[in-house]
Amino acid sequence: MIAHCGQRTTIEMKFIVDNNVGKLAKWLRMMGYDAQFFEGSADSQMIATALAESRVILTRDTQIMRRRVVTSSQLKAILIQSDEPEQQMRQVIDTLKLDCQFQPFSICLECNQPLVERSQERVKDLVPPYVFQTRNQYMECPACHRIYWRGTHWQAMARNLEKFIKDSTQENTV
Ligand SMILES: [Zn+2]
Repeated sequence: MIAHCGQRTTIEMKFIVDNNVGKLAKWLRMMGYDAQFFEGSADSQMIATALAESRVILTRDTQIMRRRVVTSSQLKAILIQSDEPEQQMRQVIDTLKLDCQFQPFSICLECNQPLVERSQERVKDLVPPYVFQTRNQYMECPACHRIYWRGTHWQAMARNLEKFIKDSTQENTV
């Protein structure tokens, strides 16, 4: 269904997501990309972090695009065009040729920490009984201790992602 997407380059890429396009952080994490949400207000702070940690900046702020570090290509930044999160995500995927199946289910959607695999036994008292009985693959966030399993919520998000990536690749082949 998303074969087209699988042929894309699978380069490890890290992001810093400006607060004016904050929704992108969760989508990128879902695909398995390290996407830090920038909560500060000073552009210079975001740029410093991006440079120090080799992160691509995603923003709607045209000022950032005029910075010398960006115009000289020392730092990669993408100016997001649309107001609409799905369009924004398409732009990022298409511009960077991201692999939507990069490492799904590997990063905490809330705090951007790499998830750690947990045995079924270990999460027994941490997940609802019906989940424990029906799922055997669990991941835990070492920071917030949220337990993830491949359940309905994850599937719904994965389906959405799949849907608009599919739409996007269809547009490109026309
Ligand atoms: Zn977490």
